[in-house]
Amino acid sequence: MKIGCHVSFGKEQLLGSVKEAVSYGANAFMFYTGAPQNTMRSAIDDFKTIEAYNMMKENGIRLIDVVCHAPYIVNLANNKDLEKYRFGIDFLIQEIERCSLLGVKYLVLHPGSAVGLDRMDALKNIIYALNIVLERDENIVVLLETMAGKGTELGTNIEEIKTIIDGVNKKELIGVCLDTCHLNDSGVDISKFDDYLDEFDEKIGLDRIKVLHLNDSKNGLGSRKDRHELIGYGTIGFNNLLNVVLNERLSDVPKILETPYIGNNDEDKERLYPPYKFEISMLKSRVFDENLKEKIRDFYEKKDK
Ligand code: FE
Ligand code: FE
Ligand code: ZN
Repeated sequence: MKIGCHVSFGKEQLLGSVKEAVSYGANAFMFYTGAPQNTMRSAIDDFKTIEAYNMMKENGIRLIDVVCHAPYIVNLANNKDLEKYRFGIDFLIQEIERCSLLGVKYLVLHPGSAVGLDRMDALKNIIYALNIVLERDENIVVLLETMAGKGTELGTNIEEIKTIIDGVNKKELIGVCLDTCHLNDSGVDISKFDDYLDEFDEKIGLDRIKVLHLNDSKNGLGSRKDRHELIGYGTIGFNNLLNVVLNERLSDVPKILETPYIGNNDEDKERLYPPYKFEISMLKSRVFDENLKEKIRDFYEKKDK
């Protein structure tokens, strides 16, 4: 089982990410090179990277199962503000260089939102931008994330993902990251996940899927909302998500949790606890734990004292 979660990339950079992942019992992880909602980034420290590699080796985390996520404010779909569009392209080029320095192969990207443009034109903008970004030979694979369909998001069905891939010149540098919450919200029934994989295989090919975001959803099938929920506490449910994790067709694909932190018993908004250590062990045990939230609170409240 390749299972991990979103971790931070702070002052200690990749080393900090590894430490956090190890503390959760993860054997894969995903990080943003800075805050996901902005594009301020610091230079990569190679000494920290080497220390991170050593710690990964000691703990059985392979570099191929470490994934970077581009900030979600980069929108390659809209070129109405040309300066912003160019900035997005330039930022992504720099992000790929950072991935290269870190030895990270996969960069997850939200395809973008049309905001006022015709959807087909917006898809063309994404393709145009990706072809510029992938021009340099960095060997980093950009993974298009399947989106929920909130607002004017693109990449909300197999056809749109396929259109983008078809337009990219360097096919070896483009792939897909599935997100179970987004799929559910876009109208894909996760209880029939194999049917979705069949269609994906026929139209795109399963070998394009390199990462999977494992999230439950606060909202119903086709709601186009995108609000993540703890595994087993949302509308998709534990067994459907466990079946995704155990699906043999995706056994090589790292599953990354992006579920929300939970509040403590006092509902003190300042204290939020990461659920990942407990979700990972629940998934490994293959049995739903209806006391998961309590266990998380108990564990971290004791630590706080
Ligand atoms: Fe994402
Ligand atoms: Fe995601
Ligand atoms: Zn999401």
